[in-house]
Amino acid sequence: MNASRYQRQVILPQVGEDGQARLASARVLVAGCGALGCGIADLLARAGIGCLRLVDRDLVEMSNLQRQVLYAESDVGMPKAHAAAARLSSINSSIKIDAHVTDINPRTVQTLSEDCDVLVDGLDNFETRYLLNDMAVSMGIPYIYGGAVGTEGLSFPVLPGESSACLRCLFPEPPPAGTTATCDTAGVLGPIIATVAAHEALQVLKLVLDHEEDLDRSLVSFDAWRNEIRRLAAPAPDESCPCCGQKRFEWLDGSRGGSTTTLCGRGAVQVLPGTQAGIDLSDLSHRLAPHGDFAVRDGVLRGQLREERSDSGHPVELTIFEDLRAMVGQIDSPERAKAIYDRYVGA
Ligand SMILES: [Zn+2]
Repeated sequence: MNASRYQRQVILPQVGEDGQARLASARVLVAGCGALGCGIADLLARAGIGCLRLVDRDLVEMSNLQRQVLYAESDVGMPKAHAAAARLSSINSSIKIDAHVTDINPRTVQTLSEDCDVLVDGLDNFETRYLLNDMAVSMGIPYIYGGAVGTEGLSFPVLPGESSACLRCLFPEPPPAGTTATCDTAGVLGPIIATVAAHEALQVLKLVLDHEEDLDRSLVSFDAWRNEIRRLAAPAPDESCPCCGQKRFEWLDGSRGGSTTTLCGRGAVQVLPGTQAGIDLSDLSHRLAPHGDFAVRDGVLRGQLREERSDSGHPVELTIFEDLRAMVGQIDSPERAKAIYDRYVGA
């Protein structure tokens, strides 16, 4: 390791040589490589966290570049986890980047989280946050919750075993689908992302450096436009909380959430496979050849189905990942998307 790389943080009394060695031996799961995940992973890679496990299911889009700081125009169309890994490796080649292009769900979360020291939230949906919260509490791993939309953001540390509240103590139920603002519908300002990502990354560094006494244990809310930072003291753990109080991990055991299809934006439906098996995408590409022009690039199979049309007459777009997850584009109906998936990919 080049000694000068970390010199400016090693001279900090809060870090030192011992602290730098702690950072180098740490393993952190960055769940989601959207705006928050990019900002968090950038700070942690530069700080020298020894292993970053990046997980994201999406592809880079042009509309991401306004705030997702790891991506460039040349990355558009690539899986985010791969593009982020390439960028982070070019920033710091001395750390390990473990990139996964997959969905975080009850079937994958255990493998993705095990052997991690901290789980950090770069997610865009509550289902996956409750799943990570269940995972963190059941395994006794700290989880840093964060979220941002519009010009506001939140950050909160879940510290299992420290008689601190979990995410479900704070928010017992997810907001009903379609009732909350999302970055797609309400927009989001780049600097609020940077603010929340920096707060989350700071909490990770304090945990890894064994400075738990210096953690910000409150629910912090940032309002970038009103110039307000508010702190709500962390509530005591709620004995009636299904997760940390009663140890019923409903999101982890799949009794909550986990539908096989998820609406993931305008005119596209995500279909999750019924099994965890992977597939050779070039084989599938040959099988689909009679139905349209399909090609595999960057570990993703993409094409348009000639025989399947949207309501407005556009050919249906099919994007398939190695874990057999698919995005069906130009479609609004989960049922039709599942039917198309079953027809062309196999149930
Ligand atoms: Zn709880």
